[in-house]
Amino acid sequence: MLDYRPHLGVKKTNLTIGGVDAVSLAGEFGTPLYVVDEERIRERYREFRDAFLALYPKIEIKYAYKANTNLAVCSILRDEGCSADVLSEGEIRIALKIGLSPEKIIFTGNNKTHGELELAVDSGVIINVDAIHELERLKRICAEKNKEAMISFRINPGISPDTHPHLSTGLKKSKFGIHEESVLTAYGEALACEHFKIKGIHMHIGSQITKTSPYEEATAKLFDIVGGLKDRLGVELEFVDLGGGLGIRYDRENQYITPKDLASALIPIVRDKIEEYSLKEPLLYFEPGRYIVGDSTIMLTKVSTIKKTPFKKFIGTDAGFHVFPRPVIYGAYHEALVANRMGQEDTEVVDIAGNVCESGDILAVDRSLPVIEEDDIIAFLDAGAYCFVMASQYNSRPRPAEVLVKSGSYELIRERESLEDILEKEIIPERFLS
Ligand code: PLP
Repeated sequence: MLDYRPHLGVKKTNLTIGGVDAVSLAGEFGTPLYVVDEERIRERYREFRDAFLALYPKIEIKYAYKANTNLAVCSILRDEGCSADVLSEGEIRIALKIGLSPEKIIFTGNNKTHGELELAVDSGVIINVDAIHELERLKRICAEKNKEAMISFRINPGISPDTHPHLSTGLKKSKFGIHEESVLTAYGEALACEHFKIKGIHMHIGSQITKTSPYEEATAKLFDIVGGLKDRLGVELEFVDLGGGLGIRYDRENQYITPKDLASALIPIVRDKIEEYSLKEPLLYFEPGRYIVGDSTIMLTKVSTIKKTPFKKFIGTDAGFHVFPRPVIYGAYHEALVANRMGQEDTEVVDIAGNVCESGDILAVDRSLPVIEEDDIIAFLDAGAYCFVMASQYNSRPRPAEVLVKSGSYELIRERESLEDILEKEIIPERFLS
């Protein structure tokens, strides 16, 4: 079960991550606890980058911050030379805070606020425009400030990526991007404005994509648009951003593709289109999030209650969907192991229940596991993307700590919150205090 996750291992009866005993970490830092493996992040980033670099010389990987914005995680990737895809004021500030230069940051995102656009213009990041109205607002901001903005447009290619409906972002009816019909108008308007430097074009068709075909279709379509922009408006783009979305293997059956598969499928299309439209070789951007950080992390939770009903056996843990949201939000499957009973035979079928007071708070259904006792430690695997970042304080429970491991050593990268952290911003009006 751990074969394709080389950063996980077993020592005696305990699960290890990055050479560190997961059960000891749970004991030292408490549970629930996120544990991130630094080397695994580096490995996955390099694998992705090298797969494309082997076939095309001008590649830039822009890690999608939305997947995991822990400052240490972002710093590891900056250290690797990876740039950033961000989508909010907070993420712009995080990318700048960890020392990325503004031209390495692309600000995508829909419904950008006036304040976010002002910050983007002031800081000089690339602004990936999502709507013509946004362009108008940006024009006004640039004129007021008498500043130039580097821009690209997010295009909605109208492609189904064959993934969870909540993870499809490039469908004709989805809220993202500019539709094909309006592309010439958008670029034409940008071209006519002295405040804009047009840099590129962008698409992102969805997340957890496990086939190359939707990417192939969308890439060909995007490059036809690029060719059309050159032929009709004389615009040559510096970069073409093909987005993120490469899926990872959450279970043993799931089909998946590697960055190599994706590169072998896409680069010939890119080359053909460059020739067809006599384009200058553009920089190719990719924005993987999940692929880089997804399997780097495990979430450890302690068993607090075991309950047998006439229908089910529930293993009740000290984490719920407020800590680990994907199973409940997306119906996602995450492999669960009993971190202190590795190697023991699976003899029971159980549900793992969260501790949030909601009947839907079930983290795993009908799992075959060894006989579990109170205080055992359950490890949910592949918890690096869209997990901690979506955690909340629902039920007045503080968010967990995060620990970084690297080749046998470990350090805290986020302190566990306290009740004081939860209450810090709340105000009891004077009249209730007497
Ligand atoms: N780029 C954009 C614009 C996104 O919205 C997302 C996430 O959906 C990503 C990149 C990263 O996607 P993933 O984590 O699936 O690679």
